[in-house]
Amino acid sequence: MALSLSNRELKGSYDHRLVEPQVMGEVLKTRGEVDGLLLDGPPFVSGIPHPGTVWNKVMKDVYIRYSTSKGKAQTVRPGYDCHGLPIELAVQKELGITAKDGVVKYGLDNFVKKCDEMSKKNMQAMTRVFQRLGVAMDWEHPYCTSETAYVEAEWREFKELYDKGLVTREKRVFYWCPKDETVLSDYEVNNYVEIVDRSIYVKFRVESAQNEYLLVWTTTPWTIPANVALMVNPDEEYVEAELNGNTYILAEKRLSVLGPGFSVKRKFRGSELDGVKYVHPLGFLSFQAMDHRVVLSKGFVSAEEGTGIVHVAPAHGQEDFQVGKENGLPMLDLVDEKGRYRPFVERYAGKYVREANDLIISDLRSAGALFKEEPVSHRYPVCWRCGTPLIMRPTEQWLLKVSSVKDELVNAASEVGVIPPWLKEGRFLPWLKGLGDWVVSRQRYWGTPMPIWVCDKCGDVKVIGSLKELESLTGKKIASSLDLHRPLVDELTFKHSCGGTMKRIPDVFDVWFDSGSAPYASTGRWPPTRYELVLEGQDQFSGWFASLAKLSVMLWSTMPYSKVLAHGMALDESGREMHKSLGNYVDVEEVVNEYGADAFRAFFLGHTPWEDVRFTKKGLEDALKKINTLWNLLYFASTYMALDDYHPREPPRLEVEDRWVLSRLMALEASVTSSMESLQFDSALKSLLDFMVDDLSKWYVKLIRKRTWVEKKDDPSKEAAYYALYWSLDALLRMLHPFVPFVTTFLMKYLPDEDADFAWPAKSFPRDEDLEKRMEVTRGLVAAALYARNKAGIKVRHPLKELLVSGAELGELSGLVAEQVNVKRVVAVDQKDVMDKKTRVRYDVLGSLFHQNTRVAAEKAIAGEKEVEIDGKKYEIPGNAIEVYYEPKPGYVMVEFEGYKAFLNTAVDEELEREALLRELVRRVQETRKRAKLSVEDRIDLVLLVPREMAASVSELASRMVDDTRAVSIRVSQEPPDGEWFSQDWDLDGFELKVYLRKANG
Ligand SMILES: [Zn+2]
Ligand SMILES: [Zn+2]
Repeated sequence: MALSLSNRELKGSYDHRLVEPQVMGEVLKTRGEVDGLLLDGPPFVSGIPHPGTVWNKVMKDVYIRYSTSKGKAQTVRPGYDCHGLPIELAVQKELGITAKDGVVKYGLDNFVKKCDEMSKKNMQAMTRVFQRLGVAMDWEHPYCTSETAYVEAEWREFKELYDKGLVTREKRVFYWCPKDETVLSDYEVNNYVEIVDRSIYVKFRVESAQNEYLLVWTTTPWTIPANVALMVNPDEEYVEAELNGNTYILAEKRLSVLGPGFSVKRKFRGSELDGVKYVHPLGFLSFQAMDHRVVLSKGFVSAEEGTGIVHVAPAHGQEDFQVGKENGLPMLDLVDEKGRYRPFVERYAGKYVREANDLIISDLRSAGALFKEEPVSHRYPVCWRCGTPLIMRPTEQWLLKVSSVKDELVNAASEVGVIPPWLKEGRFLPWLKGLGDWVVSRQRYWGTPMPIWVCDKCGDVKVIGSLKELESLTGKKIASSLDLHRPLVDELTFKHSCGGTMKRIPDVFDVWFDSGSAPYASTGRWPPTRYELVLEGQDQFSGWFASLAKLSVMLWSTMPYSKVLAHGMALDESGREMHKSLGNYVDVEEVVNEYGADAFRAFFLGHTPWEDVRFTKKGLEDALKKINTLWNLLYFASTYMALDDYHPREPPRLEVEDRWVLSRLMALEASVTSSMESLQFDSALKSLLDFMVDDLSKWYVKLIRKRTWVEKKDDPSKEAAYYALYWSLDALLRMLHPFVPFVTTFLMKYLPDEDADFAWPAKSFPRDEDLEKRMEVTRGLVAAALYARNKAGIKVRHPLKELLVSGAELGELSGLVAEQVNVKRVVAVDQKDVMDKKTRVRYDVLGSLFHQNTRVAAEKAIAGEKEVEIDGKKYEIPGNAIEVYYEPKPGYVMVEFEGYKAFLNTAVDEELEREALLRELVRRVQETRKRAKLSVEDRIDLVLLVPREMAASVSELASRMVDDTRAVSIRVSQEPPDGEWFSQDWDLDGFELKVYLRKANG
């Protein structure tokens, strides 16, 4: 028994360094089966998780813990996005390889092995951080997009899509990164920077005339060699304008580009230019020996910029490509995957296109085809991974025909609940409505290999959907995940019925195809469960939320999730994004080592999920303070409950403050539950902390302090206080647990009869809203009365006679007020009885009427007369000349609270003086006990050393001190006692006190 007692008594102060390691195992324990609660979006394996990524995981953890506490026990499998170019680039950097062909030289097999190693190493490092934060997921079995089962699942999906006719191979113009040598999907092109380029006005000579030119403006001179046509808008007005003996054709609205001195010869519709033949200005390029003509386009030509005539290079622009297709134009595909002109491009062969601009401009000038040149500053797309300006070039890629299911996709998506709701119409649906076909092939190494085999003889295509199929076709066994990666998988070939050899195409999947496959690939369930929730950053509307939706609708005609919570970003203190390069990056592990995981969690979870969070140390310190308050509450409770070996049982009767706190608890549970259901984690946490600080710590504990100090073990009032405190703390710990799992797990052990499963509180108590309202008024009164004491300079320890309250109905709460304000009684009064009616003359009012006769008028007014006679004439004294007001009677200080008034009687008599002295003495003895490090249950011998003149009054009080000080004997003396005593000097108002005490025997 004694052992269990001391075990349940909380010692010391809060230190996360001691608390968190002790309960780590319990905190990370997962419960229940994997089910459709939440699908974890796999973060890319960067190695060091961004604070925003950690915030994301912590929010998921809160949701999982809450759901578990409500009986939906869940284990969520965490995910990692293991493939992709960033890993390739990191490995390249480590190996000192700058270009893509350096990888081939290094050896693809070793390179891929290194990518695999790095992704696994990074994954472990990230897992360590997530675990340190107390995120309870199935860390033993994370899903990783590069593992064999995952890759195979993607193959099955792709084969299904292929069989459904949703896969196509097309040559199209795509954005291309010449550094990474791979295609980019439209949604990857979102990084624009301001670039200064050379823009030129080029003269394209009309074939049938000597000095007549179609004037064209371009910001990409390097595309001129690929020009095959010009386009104009058939509905715009064009002109022939003469300048220095030449005729220029351009849009009327753009005449200003000619500068001064021109004259307009003729005006006409753009449609008239249809089919006009022109001569290519770089005619020396032999591949340009072809007809060139003007074509019409309403959509792609505007007269608002340039010259209103646009040059068409179908290989190097998406609009050009389309116009080329519509008009049957040839395509000059001049640029290779490194962004260099191909060998046949004669004079420019081998040059990087952007660097060829100068040479091309100078050639145009020599050919007399340059009208003018000027720098242009424009927003230009660059690669989001390496920052290289992107170019457009035609390649053959594999696409998913998202466009063919778009209506279905948008319909299904409109059933999804989006939090915050305004982002549904603001981001979610518009993005899906704007989707084009999805280019899923990438020309890289470290990725899921596309399961497409093509016959080298007849071109027949075979899509493989499982390992079994691959093994039976090739006769090879797949032993490790690396066997399902390049280059090993590329070596797996088989014979085609025509006699040719089936070889895999070299492409890998877009990483978004990887992560978008998670519902099936991470569970093996076909079709997958629809998840209740996905929870990621707002950037995922164009990323993961979209790729999940696309694949799920194409494969199973359904959305993969019911609800989306899109959260904000974690920013630095001044609101900037955190980047290593900016030097404002917050190392999560460092922060957690300093402040603890609970403080980190409480800080982030205290913010509205869908807004950006600014990270501040001040915020962490505030969170830490709150955790300390929780600790102190348990410290208080466990100390007394352990002392009395308390176990909760129905008490005979509850005091009013007990009923109040339990009623408040019911209100709290209702509001926290509703906030949690609507995923407003921040409001839930705020309600909990407000209850903890304001209702429990600053109020209820104060009210019951005296009751817990009663020595009798089964005192009914004390038991009632324990009961209400016990259940308040029990519920508070349970509801706080999802937010701060470490400290709550630790503290729960210090409540007797602990139950560490953290089920949501289930015990209910009567709700009394009227009592809650009256308590609110009471608290206002106590605060006001304490303020009045302070104003009158009377310490709270000094009892006063009475507090008179006017208006407010306190009922049973008046005893509580008396105790808190330390008055003998609280009495309801009519304020008129405590106030004297007073009047004063409004000299300002009288002065404006009576001027030099004001004094005479005032005398009459004071006498209560209605008229005054001046120089034989009678004047009326206005009613407002006398102002009536009330003043508290002498000896009372008036305070106002919650719309009512109260009056504190500040008079002090002899008995009150005695009590004041008693309180002063008791307080010093208690303080001395504490310094002597006695525990509350220790009994003591006590000697009070006081000056001779105080001896009588102190002796008189000795018997009244016994209970509060737990003294077995009390002696008042002028001489120090003999033997071993703990002593302490005190300076009381007016005399010196020396307290001697020691543990009493027995
Ligand atoms: Zn790039
Ligand atoms: Zn064949």
